[in-house]
Amino acid sequence: MSWHHRISPSAADRWMACPGSPNLLDTVPRRPSGPAALEGTRAHAIRERMLTGQVITIMNDGEEAYAMSLLLKRGVNYLLGLGGQRLIEHRFSLDPWIPGGSGTSDAVVHRGAATLVNDLKYGVQPVQAKDNKQLMIYALGAMRPGTRTVTLQIDAPRAVSSQHSISREDLLDFGSTVARAAIATESKDAPRIAGDKQCQWCDARTVCPEYATTLMTGFDS
Ligand code: SF4
Repeated sequence: MSWHHRISPSAADRWMACPGSPNLLDTVPRRPSGPAALEGTRAHAIRERMLTGQVITIMNDGEEAYAMSLLLKRGVNYLLGLGGQRLIEHRFSLDPWIPGGSGTSDAVVHRGAATLVNDLKYGVQPVQAKDNKQLMIYALGAMRPGTRTVTLQIDAPRAVSSQHSISREDLLDFGSTVARAAIATESKDAPRIAGDKQCQWCDARTVCPEYATTLMTGFDS
């Protein structure tokens, strides 16, 4: 089983809080992507094309793609206007924190000692940049030796965009926590710890004894 399946940055809220979840997930079929996830994938593809200079038209790309491009335009123009070194859909090694791991960030901009990690969330639910584990893990991979501050930024054209800045030192402290959590998932006896956030999107809920218990007693946190 690849690391990507077991402990991906996008699932960090789950496996960092519930180290036993990857083992249990190995025993259940994965849920196919729903309509919202598929729509998000299409929006990411349109945005990537826009960020690399392509023009989306109704004639060539269809009505849905064009409508998406109108929604995405503001965030795209913001990124294109920043200057600095821009990396689009760039894959970073996460090996110091997640052995053998890597992550692909939607957009990263380096400007001197400042790095911006930008992520599109196309859903209608607000997502906070502050304490966002997925973005913080991307930031660990994106930081350059001279980076002093990283701004985590959620571009949410259908909800509320959000950003939060974090120092290199605080990110590296978080990286130590990630590394400990990643190691903890490797034990065959890794504990399962139920909680609102980690269980919300876990595909193992139907077979998980700890989750079943919470249905009767409620979550501790
Ligand atoms: S349902 Fe909750 S407690 Fe059970 S494995 Fe998933 S995250 Fe862990």
